[in-house]
Order: sequence, then C-alpha cells, then structure tokens
Amino acid sequence: MRKMVLTCAISGAETTREHNPNLPITASELADAATEARDAGASILHLHVRDKAGNPTQDVEVFREAIEAIRAKTDIIIEVTTGGAVGMPLKERLQPLQLKPEMASLDCGTTNFGNDYIVNTLPMMRQAAKEMKKQGIRPTLECFDISHIDASKILIKEGLIEPPFHYGLVLGVPAGVNYDADTLAFFVNRLPTDSYWTVIAIGGKASLYANYGAIALNGYIRQGFEDNVYYSKGVLATSNAQLIERSANIARDGGFEIATPDEVRKLFKLKKP
Ligand code: ZN
Repeated sequence: MRKMVLTCAISGAETTREHNPNLPITASELADAATEARDAGASILHLHVRDKAGNPTQDVEVFREAIEAIRAKTDIIIEVTTGGAVGMPLKERLQPLQLKPEMASLDCGTTNFGNDYIVNTLPMMRQAAKEMKKQGIRPTLECFDISHIDASKILIKEGLIEPPFHYGLVLGVPAGVNYDADTLAFFVNRLPTDSYWTVIAIGGKASLYANYGAIALNGYIRQGFEDNVYYSKGVLATSNAQLIERSANIARDGGFEIATPDEVRKLFKLKKP
C-alpha cells in the first residue's frame, strides 16, 4: 500500500494569535501541538520558534528548549526552518543547524512574500547546503518558483545535495505563484527523477485543495497554522491536529496508509538523533 507522509507546520514566523487564538508559541505549547499532530498522523514537524514577546527568532537556545520539549513527548521528525522570518540575514537563519536536527528547510531562490521579499542568492543557498551536508541534515528543498527547481539542480550537480531528494513546493504565497492543480503538475514534472515532494499551499482554499493535488500526483502533504489557520471558509481551525486529521482521512480514503516517523526516517535516510 502507498504511504502518505504528512508534515505539520504548527506556527511559522508570521502567523499570530490574532489570526488564530490557538496558535502554539511557548516550548511546552509547541510540544503539545507537535504531539497532537503526530497522533493525528503527522510524521514531520516543520518548526519555527518565537521569543518571549512572540516574535520570530532563530536563536539557538530558544530552538534547543523547544526541541528538547518536543522530543520528550513525541518521536516526530523535526525539520527546522532556515527561512526564518522576512529580513533576517543568512547567518542568523542558519543558527538552528548547530543542533543537528534530522531535517531543515532550504529555500532555493528569492521570492516575493506579500509586500516583502526573501533573498536567497545561489551563494547563500550553497552555504546553507554545505552546512546541512556537514551536519548530516536532510534538506527540504523549498521551491516557490520554477526557477528555484532549476537552481536546486545546480546544487545537486555541485554535489552539495545528495539523494534522496525531498522538495517542498510552495504555492499561494501572496505575490508568488498561485496554487492550482495544473501549476502543481508543472512543478512536479520539473523535479529530478525519483524525488520525493511535499506540497505546501498557502491560504485556506489552496491548502485544502492541495490535499487532493498531492494524492493525484503521488506527492506528500503539509498542513498547519504556518500555511493556513482556517478549517473551512470563515471557520478557524481549532488546532493544527484538526488539519492533519482531515488530511490523513483524505489520504486514507485515497488508498494511502499514513507513514510513521520511523518509516519516513528510512525513506529519507535520516540520521536519528
Ligand atoms: Zn516555515
């Protein structure tokens, strides 16, 4: 039976309690949300952390506290962000890699982000890839544009990224490429052969539709408050786990079994901490 890999992005950098009062912020809230998401079917946790004022930070100690709290409660795979938040310099963004998480996101190009933009030049991408390779961390190659997929192939050719490749296809960021099934298929067809990929669709409608896109095209699914805070139009999700549970049900109905973290560790050849 085919296995579905579900990632939960429980908080992100830009989502606030004004968007959804159920947003987890502290280490213990993140650990609870991660455990609930794992119980609902998530095998990977995409992790951002906040400082005491609730602002996004890439501080190692804040990540360490969150990771320890999460690992004490659940066996979910932790993927730290190196995207950080809008405007952070690369050195700051890469700080949590020192903690040797099993996975980390690696942005594969510059992109609009609403009124802002996130810069990822090729030299910056090389630096991030080198650091991940050195620490034995599996990157999720986040592509917001077709050009980002082509740029990732440069890193692969240079030996900075080794198989198995896992892509995160990010669609629906305001002022970026919008989500629709045709566009997702176009992205998927551009990937190196034998790549794994997860669709990351931003906003309520795209995030819901992407469940079906992933099933149709044999990919994986990411859900969570980083990408979308709604369960349905105008109705806030009560938790990250609620969104994961729906994706797990859709996947099961589509003929998939839900992969466990240990199954994903084997699939992606992760170094278990
Ligand atoms: Zn993120």
